[in-house]
Amino acid sequence: MKKVKSSNQGYPRLGQNREWKRVLESYWKKEISESLFLEKMKELRIGNVRKQTDAGIDLIPVGDFTLYDQMLDMAWMFNLIPERHRTENPASIDCYFSMARGSKSATACAMTKWFDTNYHYLVPEWEGSEPKLNFNKPLDHYLEAKEWADGKPVIIGPYTFIRLSKGYESLEKAAEKLLPLYAQLLQQLEEHGAQIAQVDEPAFVYEETSEDFPIIQSMYSYLDGKVSSLKICIQTYFESPDAYQQLMTLPVSGWGFDFTRGNTIDLMKKHGFPADKFLAAGIIDGRNIWRAKGTESLKLVEFLQKKIKPCELWIQPSCSLIHVPETKEGEVSLPAGVYNSLSFAKEKLAECVLLAGSIDLEAKNRILEWDQAYQELTKYRKSENLSDKVQSFKRKQAFSEREEIQRKAFQLPLLPLTTIGSFPQTKEVRKQRKRFRDGLLSKQEYDAFVKRETKRWIGIQEEAGLDVLVHGEFERNDMVEYFGENLDGFAFTKHGWVQSYGSRGVKPPIIFGDIGWRGSITSELASYSQSLTDKPVKGMLTGPVTILNWSFPRDDQSSEVLASFIAAALRKEVLELEKAGIRMIQIDEPAFREGLPLKKSKQAAYTEWAVNAFRATHWDVQADTQIHTHMCYSEFSEMMDAISDMDADVISIETSRGGGENISTFKEFSYDKMIGLGVYDIHSPRIPAAAEMEKVIEQCLTVLPAGRFWINPDCGLKTRSEEEAIQSLSNMAEAAFNIRDKH
Ligand code: GLN
Ligand code: ZN
Repeated sequence: MKKVKSSNQGYPRLGQNREWKRVLESYWKKEISESLFLEKMKELRIGNVRKQTDAGIDLIPVGDFTLYDQMLDMAWMFNLIPERHRTENPASIDCYFSMARGSKSATACAMTKWFDTNYHYLVPEWEGSEPKLNFNKPLDHYLEAKEWADGKPVIIGPYTFIRLSKGYESLEKAAEKLLPLYAQLLQQLEEHGAQIAQVDEPAFVYEETSEDFPIIQSMYSYLDGKVSSLKICIQTYFESPDAYQQLMTLPVSGWGFDFTRGNTIDLMKKHGFPADKFLAAGIIDGRNIWRAKGTESLKLVEFLQKKIKPCELWIQPSCSLIHVPETKEGEVSLPAGVYNSLSFAKEKLAECVLLAGSIDLEAKNRILEWDQAYQELTKYRKSENLSDKVQSFKRKQAFSEREEIQRKAFQLPLLPLTTIGSFPQTKEVRKQRKRFRDGLLSKQEYDAFVKRETKRWIGIQEEAGLDVLVHGEFERNDMVEYFGENLDGFAFTKHGWVQSYGSRGVKPPIIFGDIGWRGSITSELASYSQSLTDKPVKGMLTGPVTILNWSFPRDDQSSEVLASFIAAALRKEVLELEKAGIRMIQIDEPAFREGLPLKKSKQAAYTEWAVNAFRATHWDVQADTQIHTHMCYSEFSEMMDAISDMDADVISIETSRGGGENISTFKEFSYDKMIGLGVYDIHSPRIPAAAEMEKVIEQCLTVLPAGRFWINPDCGLKTRSEEEAIQSLSNMAEAAFNIRDKH
């Protein structure tokens, strides 16, 4: 039998100890010079290559590394630099970070979620740019790594790049401009000896691919004509491409598929696979952290070899490994049995290598041992996986009835001012939490510290003139981790970091067993905060869909069932808050949209159970308990009905970047509940002026009447400095006061 190769699509860049983040942030803080910064980044980049050569991977990705985001790299390289960020030298790092993070005078490029993941990319902007190839990043990285590996350069393919960008005239026109640049880039790679290029086209899993196929065909025929020895391997992931049959006719050398999601195997069984192409088989799940199932994986490899018979077979993770932490090494405090069933990036690569060599008997036996690891988990897993037992939930009073009652109960001014929940997690806050975790601070001392911060910020909010206050979430390291730590069934890693956007990492909890509520989590701090002020204080919870989507779920229960268990636990927390006299409760669902399946045909089933899980948390509160929810930047139009069905009295959303666009969507769908306008972008260090926010509000007021709106930032303020937060909030309040005066 032909030799099977092991391959990888992308390596986690954050690092086990978030080394990448440290380097990046110390450069931003001007603690290191630009040249030292670039040198340190190079060290990390080469380090990643060497880790993969050490693991025995045959095809090592290069060019997947980035200083911020891989889409931004492509835009920057192709000179798609918005005018507001343009500097004399477009290849300058300042220009790059200005696009990423904004500058004093220019707002950052919009950020949005990468397919259905929690990774955020920067949206390339076409307006006013003349595309050209400013430099060749994959080539630079290829050459730099050559001493250690003959790497496989990775780029985002033209179809996906264009589809995910904005401000272009049409797919054809944009392709016309970009394709010569892609050709140049690939030719240069070829000239310097690269043999294979991985061209990522995850957008091929969208339904529109069929319709767009003629353009896609001309794109790849064009590129095929421009290279000779370089082999192009198109990589798709996160779903299966429905246009499989059409795609197989493209003149490329190989295909990469995600075999852990969708039904690509069925498509292959039905339509076969071209015998002259190589197949990059994404067998190892790059989105979850469980060990592969040994018997199943072996069967699949054998099937591919014997039945599908590609000219070359590669075993690889289903997608880039940036969606999982780097290694489980050192995670000694996990519950017994959990550690053994885990597999992070490093372990996943070892699985790929072993599977690629499974013709060897010893390797085969080791693979079969993987299955035993799961046995140890059964003792934590008694709840059943029965979707037909999930009940549906609904509030007793309709919104119109509740609205009347709540209006009388709260007596709020027009355009009530509030925030999304968190306040700056300053160095001091993080330091005290660390001291507490390290046992250097008693629980009492730590709680007292949190209360002092809370009290100080209740004062700041009153001072700023906000109408509905929050406690500030100083006790929370992370909005999901905090709840996971206080519920049964979750485990936590020490170093399980995954990049979320830019230098921001999250440490998703692992749901390994049955979920249970142990007792009140948030009510003490909420009622303490309420005791400090006459203004209402919102209780703050993370919603069930977000907890699920931002955790690594157990692999033996459906998402629907898992969400319903989390919701049942959160409902107890909601009732506890109500009992403690908290009359407004915010149940955040920033990850609600992210869970939406990529295929339209699968979306209704998702929204049905997700909405139901959300409603299960608040269906039996009193009519005068006001339920809020929050979602960050989202493309709402495809799920307006679901948002309305969630039946929250107030939803806060992002409105600063899209102008009034979002609000028009809400109007179009006759959304009848209240909307909190996220009038400024908290992701940027830039402090927005009152006039700027007034403009956003005024724009929204042309769409819907003022009585429907609240005013707030577009997300929590935990990543901002105190100075930035206080100044921005005071400007925000000024904007609202000015508008109130006019009404
Ligand atoms: N309440 C959370 C906070 O303010 C919400 C964060 C989010 O939406 N991502 O931090
Ligand atoms: Zn948010």
